[in-house]
Amino acid sequence: MVNNVPTPPTPVNEPVLGYLPGSKERTELKAELSRQSAQVVEIPCIINGVEVYTDNVVEQVMPHNHSHVIARVHMAGEKEVTDAIEAALNAHDSWSTMPWEARGAIFLKASELLRGEYRAKINASTMINQSKTCHQAEIDSACELIDFWRFNVQYAREIYEDLQPPVSSSGMWNSSEVRPLEGFVFSVTPFNFSSIAANLPSSTAIMGNTGVWKPSRNSYLSNYYLMQLMMDAGLPDGVINFIPGKASMVGDTCLSHPMLAGIHFTGSTSVFRQMWKDVANNLENLRSYPRIVGETGGKDFIVAHPKCDKEALTVALIRGAFEFQGQKCSAASRAYIPESVWESIKDNYVEQVAKITVGDPKDFSNFMSAVIDKKSFDNIVGYIERAKQDTGCDVITGGTYDDSTGYFIRPTTIVCNDPRYESMAEEIFGPVLSIHVYPDYDFENILKVCDSTSEYALTGSIFAANREDVLTAMAALRYSSGNFYINDKPTGAVVGQQPFGGARGSGTNDKAGSPLNLLRWVSPRSIKETFAPPHEWTYGFLKE
Ligand code: NAD
Repeated sequence: MVNNVPTPPTPVNEPVLGYLPGSKERTELKAELSRQSAQVVEIPCIINGVEVYTDNVVEQVMPHNHSHVIARVHMAGEKEVTDAIEAALNAHDSWSTMPWEARGAIFLKASELLRGEYRAKINASTMINQSKTCHQAEIDSACELIDFWRFNVQYAREIYEDLQPPVSSSGMWNSSEVRPLEGFVFSVTPFNFSSIAANLPSSTAIMGNTGVWKPSRNSYLSNYYLMQLMMDAGLPDGVINFIPGKASMVGDTCLSHPMLAGIHFTGSTSVFRQMWKDVANNLENLRSYPRIVGETGGKDFIVAHPKCDKEALTVALIRGAFEFQGQKCSAASRAYIPESVWESIKDNYVEQVAKITVGDPKDFSNFMSAVIDKKSFDNIVGYIERAKQDTGCDVITGGTYDDSTGYFIRPTTIVCNDPRYESMAEEIFGPVLSIHVYPDYDFENILKVCDSTSEYALTGSIFAANREDVLTAMAALRYSSGNFYINDKPTGAVVGQQPFGGARGSGTNDKAGSPLNLLRWVSPRSIKETFAPPHEWTYGFLKE
């Protein structure tokens, strides 16, 4: 109990449901998939709690069946964006002064709705909208988001308690008012995680901010349902305004508004850099220096030592690189493997990857599905075709693709002679793993190569049996990733357990799912009250 405020329930991670044949959750999810596949949803903008249908419509399709339309999305124009900013600014007074525990209760309620009646709906929409398997949807749109909401409410409580200054000298009383930012926060979200999409606007809202949420053009359906869920949980009008719209127009309108107080972004490095530059060019017109938080691209690595668990390494390569078609910012996309290890795992690795099933996620026997859209498909295919032409590369799995029905690409492995070949260095964001095989004696040198090859520093793993070798890798790769794994794949961070984020070109490392992130959304006011103010302006030392 703090100041008569009840302590929120201790957060625990939501258990991942198994969707085994015959299970209740599997039956419910299959029914929901059929229901959603049979309808075309009209998606409006939501401004000040009101649905706005603009009739400037774009269609949303299934990536694994691109002739199947699942939604018609009413795109915002400049007027809707300006109205959304106004709505956020108008809602600021009442939302920011609402007791934090009342705000927190709304998101705890949201987590319960998602756990229960909304679970199948949100998972099914993530499966058909972003082509996730049931397992990938479950760990993202159900479990991770439930965790974000539960843990962030707990972290908010800690911030409101702990930011009180501890001392007050005699004759005075000091305190700290943990205010939200002045203005609105612009949340810009990626297609690949429904949990991130809802977390970015809601984590700032938990700390008392209001704002505009621009969802990705490739996840409108699941994101719209999440907006509805938050409203069902009691989110007041105007606190989060849902604005599907052309990215550059929404971006320009929000970034040039004088009351821009913060940007909460997850997406590609190039878009984030451009937004930062746009803000910098406009600083004189802004009331405040906006908080800029961005988690961006990755080129995540696995380094194996000659002495390591080879079976565990093989599983980490396959799961780390190919689950959700490699479209995780944390996906393993480059690996450095010693000759002796490669010799003993290569045949089994190739055999296992050949068994991977790729297709419609409604068929639960598929391990992978389609990549998100035509642009992404063409980009990935470009890397594959260039590698096929390059004499220094050997495409040992996959390398085939077909976009006639959906954007399908077989899990592809490129063995590269040059450890700095383009596919070892650049983010591809697809099911492509590049491997460089190094001489067993060269472990320490390969760590330097790993550290210096890519502009990113998001996640990475070391596979090594001996503690000395783990320590050597940890020291050499200290700044190569924001999330580091020992004998595990570099994906699958869990809220409350491995706060997530990277540095260098991978972002501002403000650690989603931790108090560090929430601290970016407050601007404390320090207050000193003096009980016995001086009545004389001169000082004793001035006397002769
Ligand atoms: P993206 O950069 O294409 O889009 C992200 C968001 O930015 C979308 O909402 C998009 O519409 C918007 N956007 C694009 N141009 C804009 C502009 N000019 N103004 C305002 N908004 C604009 O990224 P994506 O394809 O949706 O997601 C994949 C990327 O996200 C990958 O690079 C991946 O590594 C990264 N990602 C990073 C993390 C992390 O935690 N580091 C997590 C998930 C995804």
